Formats: sequence, C-alpha cells, structure tokens
Amino acid sequence: MAEYKRPGSEVEFQQNFAQKKPLMNASEAFYESSRCLFCYDAPCIKACPTGIDIPLFIKQINTGNTTGAAQTIYDSNWLGNACGKVCPTEVLCEGACVHTHQDVPVIQIGRLQNYATQNAISEGKKLFKTNSADKGRVAIIGSGPAGLACAAELSVLGYSVDIFEASSKPSGLTVYGIAPYKITNKEVLDEVAYLQSQLGFNIHYEHGITSKEQLDELEEQYDAIFLGIGMGPTSELGIQGEKLKGVTGAVEFIRELRMRHSNIHVPDRVIIIGGGNTAMDAGSEAARMGAKEVTLAYRRDKSGMKAYDFEYKLMISSGVDSLFNVQPIVILGEDKVEGVQFIRTEIKEGKLCHIEGSEFDMECDMVIKANGQTKYSAFLELIDGLQLGRSNTISVDENNYQTDNPKYFAGGDAVNGGAEVVNAAFEGKSAAIGIHNYLSNKQ
Ligand code: SF4
Repeated sequence: MAEYKRPGSEVEFQQNFAQKKPLMNASEAFYESSRCLFCYDAPCIKACPTGIDIPLFIKQINTGNTTGAAQTIYDSNWLGNACGKVCPTEVLCEGACVHTHQDVPVIQIGRLQNYATQNAISEGKKLFKTNSADKGRVAIIGSGPAGLACAAELSVLGYSVDIFEASSKPSGLTVYGIAPYKITNKEVLDEVAYLQSQLGFNIHYEHGITSKEQLDELEEQYDAIFLGIGMGPTSELGIQGEKLKGVTGAVEFIRELRMRHSNIHVPDRVIIIGGGNTAMDAGSEAARMGAKEVTLAYRRDKSGMKAYDFEYKLMISSGVDSLFNVQPIVILGEDKVEGVQFIRTEIKEGKLCHIEGSEFDMECDMVIKANGQTKYSAFLELIDGLQLGRSNTISVDENNYQTDNPKYFAGGDAVNGGAEVVNAAFEGKSAAIGIHNYLSNKQ
C-alpha cells in the first residue's frame, strides 16, 4: 500500500500523481499492436460507446500508419485522445477483449489509442475537412465533452458554431473534474486546440448563459441551440455542520486540485462520504496529497457502491481505509470541522435502516462529500416547453437528442445524469447529426 509524502512542489506533485496510462513509445506500440488478433465481429468495438473500429486502428499502428490510426479514432470519437486516457477501459473495450478468456493480458487499447492521437496532435497532422460554414448557425451552451463533440461534428457538416462557456478553460469535467493521474491539463487543452485549429468553431470563455434575456437573444440569432451544461455543485447532505470550514464537495475539491496542484493543503485526517467513482477519485487524491488517514464512509455495504471495482482497488492501493454500512448524521465542530458522527446501518425488508443506539464519532480535519451533484433545473425552467425527466435530467428524443422545444438539443451529463466522457462525446456527436437533419428538413 502506498504512502505519499505531502507534495511541496510541482515535481513532487507530478510524482505522486504519475499517469496511470503513460504514453507508449514506438517499440511498445509496435509490440502491443502485434498482440491483437484483429477479431472478426470484434467485441471491443461493440463495447465502445462511440463504436471506434479498434482492430483497424491497431492494425494501422502495427503497419506504421499512425496518422491513419488517429483518423480512424477521430472518425468515431472527437475526443479520441481524452477518452483513451480517462475511459474506464477495464469495463469497456479492454474488458470485452477476447484475451480476457485466455490467460494473457488484454490488449492495452486505451494506451494504443493515445499513441496514435497524441502523435497526430503533437505533430499537428491535418486530419479534418470542413465544409464552408453556410448551412446555418448553432449556439452551444457549455464546452464540456458533449459540447465539443457537437461543435466538431457540426463544423464538418458545414455550420458556423459558437460555444458559450462560463469558465476560462474548455472541456468541462475533463479538465476540472477528473483525477490528475488519469489525464494532465496540457493533454486536455492540446486536444481542444488541435480540433479548434482545424475545425474553426468559436469558444467564448467566461460567457455563461444564465438569463432568459440571453436565451431569447440566442434563439433570435441562431438556428438551433445545444445544451451541454453538465451538472451543478455537489448536493447537500442535509445534516447539521455542513457549512463548517473544512467541509467541501468532491467536485469542488477535485476542481481546485486540478487547477492549483501542490498549492492546496490537504490536512492529515480526511473523511470521504459516498460510494461512486468521484468518491474513489477524491479519496485517492487526498491520500496522494499527503493526508495520513483517509477514510471512505459509505452507507451500504461494498457491493452496493456504484464505483467500479478497479477504481475502489486503486483508491485502497493509495492508502485509503473504508468503512461500510455507516451514515453521517452530524458533522461535528465549532467553527471548523472536527469530526463526523455516524450511525450504523442495515438492510431490513429491502430498506436501508439505522441501527438504534449505534452512533459513534470519528475525528477528522476535513470532510469531502461525494454524494452526487445538483442539476441546473432553475436555468432549464427558463426555456419554453423544455421537459425534465427522472431526477431533473433533460428529456430528449434518444434518436436525435432533440428536446421538447424543437430548437433545443441536449446531451452529456445534463441528459444522462452523469456518465463517462465517452458517453458525452457520443451524445454530442449524435445531437449534431440530429440538428443537421432537423435544419435540413426545415428548409
Ligand atoms: Fe484485438 Fe482484443 Fe479487439 Fe480482438 S477483442 S480485435 S484481440 S483488441
């Protein structure tokens, strides 16, 4: 089990957050690609939400056509480089690889993907052809993976695209919300710059769309609008003590870490509350920032967690302990957090129940809540006719990602309730095709 020294410099930060999937060199890529069986009806393609022709790009790498490999990847997925690094490949393409049925390691598809795309990006290979942008104007709200994929596809289809982004950087959670050992800020930003330089879509930074007046203006000026707004801040637990100093949300914690690296201080004792992949990331990150005692607390047993098993194992291997069947009832402290009072839980007749009299206190200096994110429901209510579905996600026609207001399309976390970057990339691209069909049929 790893024990991390508190990083005092950028070099030490990078050591603690060494890339989980480092870039392959040419020999590694040649060897790894030669292990692929180039299966007929390849299960890895079916397991990829964007349907990348994986055996084809692996063959292209193996025959020295690295640029062709990058082209194959980008033909299906506009965020090919980011997805190679941040996709949970263990449960997608690599999890489906036929080698899982044999006693040999699976093909490292994600790393091969990065080998090809990183090569195209760093050498500035020209891969994309755009049509003259005269088919119409589309506004995109949010430059996360869904918005970027939608913008890229629309540019190829011949539309003029303006993305309105509230932050100062593109790519949403890919740059602000993913653990730093999965992808670096530079890799994310380089891929966006690469796409933008060839496809020409505009991104207006620090230009959030928040009011009815702004929406009316967009409706007047654009032929269609895509909502790639993602999700909001971490939800409240609804218990006493949540406003104490030292209590933060996982999304907010990871965002600060991604921006400030070794310049943030994580105290010695940290409790993470939650059981999803974000909780695992937050736990692993707190440990890598040098916290001495990091404990994950989850209200059900281990099997009830939404997190992937490999993410849980990664967190545990970073030195994090876990506590199951406990629910926080009070966050303790005067001005700043001093601990959490928990109660033990059990399942009775299918329901999660508190065990009476089982309360106990656990001391800590920081609490990170990873209990889900809020939705931008108040903003969405400003759009005429827009219907919200289960858990306040945006309802769309799943064939074209059009909302109940025909001018608006949507994709990504705001629609799927929080999935992977690769799902957002697929939905953004599908919505672009939906917008193109809608506008073509209107003429
Ligand atoms: Fe290659 Fe594995 Fe895909 Fe078969 S399943 S084509 S071996 S990566």
